[in-house]
Amino acid sequence: MARIVMKFGGTSVADLDRIHNVARHVKREVDAGHEVAVVVSAMSGKTNELVGWVQNTPKVAKADSPFYDAREYDAVVASGEQVTSGLLAIALQSLGVNARSWQGWQIPIRTDNAHGAARIMEIDGAEIIRRMQDGQVAVVAGFQGLGPDNRIATLGRGGSDTSAVAIAAAVKADRCDIYTDVDGVYTTDPRIEPKARRLKKVVFEEMLEMASLGSKVLQVRSVELAMVHKVRTFVRSSFEDPDAPGMGDLLNPPGTLICDEEEIVEQEVVTGIAFAKDEAQISLRRLADRPGVSAAIFGPLAEAHINVDMIVQNISEDGSRTDMTFTVPTGDLDKALKVLDEQKDTVGFDVIQSESGLVKVSVIGIGMRSHAGVAAQAFSALAAKGINIKAITTSEIKISILIDGAYGELAVRTLHSAYGLDKK
Ligand code: ADP
Ligand code: ASP
Ligand code: MG
Repeated sequence: MARIVMKFGGTSVADLDRIHNVARHVKREVDAGHEVAVVVSAMSGKTNELVGWVQNTPKVAKADSPFYDAREYDAVVASGEQVTSGLLAIALQSLGVNARSWQGWQIPIRTDNAHGAARIMEIDGAEIIRRMQDGQVAVVAGFQGLGPDNRIATLGRGGSDTSAVAIAAAVKADRCDIYTDVDGVYTTDPRIEPKARRLKKVVFEEMLEMASLGSKVLQVRSVELAMVHKVRTFVRSSFEDPDAPGMGDLLNPPGTLICDEEEIVEQEVVTGIAFAKDEAQISLRRLADRPGVSAAIFGPLAEAHINVDMIVQNISEDGSRTDMTFTVPTGDLDKALKVLDEQKDTVGFDVIQSESGLVKVSVIGIGMRSHAGVAAQAFSALAAKGINIKAITTSEIKISILIDGAYGELAVRTLHSAYGLDKK
């Protein structure tokens, strides 16, 4: 007997038929004698719809307007998961499985106060464990918890993955299965590159990079939690027949295991290609080259909650002036330009240049640590396709390249085959 947390994403619970199908997956594990807790997302498209409603009530309530209230945003957008948790509990009951729905506040899942992007601080797993031991399936609404102000707080988009891994850690589950609309983690998004290969295992550090560089198959925070709490996490498909052979395999279920480096027998140099659309670039030209300049630029941007990403500063030619380039999400570009304009005298630059609609393509692999020439291979592959590189940043296990948005998909496919990742 094992204890399993099963998470089902939006497309997996998109309608009543699919919810019924999910119930069959859950019943399979219950019938095998396992203790089960389930985490569900909202029906696909629902959260987008709810976010849209909030942002048009009243017409000006965008996140940076004085009418915007993050607590009420959370009250509205968390409702999608409330619906699916109840529906799945009913579907399970109709199959003869003892099940009960749980909202974040009922468990409770305690979060910090960052409404809209809250972090889980603590989960009291006692009641869920007690129910599981009594043979009851807890169907938990993902994406939500209870803030210190005793109000509903949501965990940021894609947050149900994080709910699932955090609950798995809290109840000391043997496994956390993230069921989605693809049958595992691929070398790149299989919707962009049909030649992408499914990976049997991915190392935590690589999965963290892939998720934070744009692969939305797992929320970044869920990977962090899985790594810290050593949660055995699989990514697998809910669309397969719940009773197909091997689906209930306890040690080797179908899908991709996210694991420690030691578990990987043959490590490739490059594991995958990630990409993030809608990046914008800002360049400050002829900036004073003196201590405090970076702080004067990035301090006010941080205060305005603008997420700055790639930062490239030139070494000054004459020790007095330099150039600084960095990226922000396209949606934040106008706000960022306004903040920088207000800082013009303090920072002391000549002009600001900007460009939106860019794409950041990243090559990820733990094997890069011990291999030279990986970056050069990317540059020549892109050059051969006539793709111009605007900026580059690297870390030990990744190379990120900023390019024109029109070439995004071509660049992904080019790099995918340049590193030999294509399906044979
Ligand atoms: P869910 O609603 O189940 O949470 P998501 O849409 O959040 O599902 O994540 C699954 C999607 O992630 C897939 O449909 C796929 O298009 C996308 N994706 C991006 N990169 C990858 C990758 N490397 N491997 C698998 N899927 C990926
Ligand atoms: N429903 C939420 C979202 O769409 C959370 C999730 O699906 O993980 O972001
Ligand atoms: Mg998701």
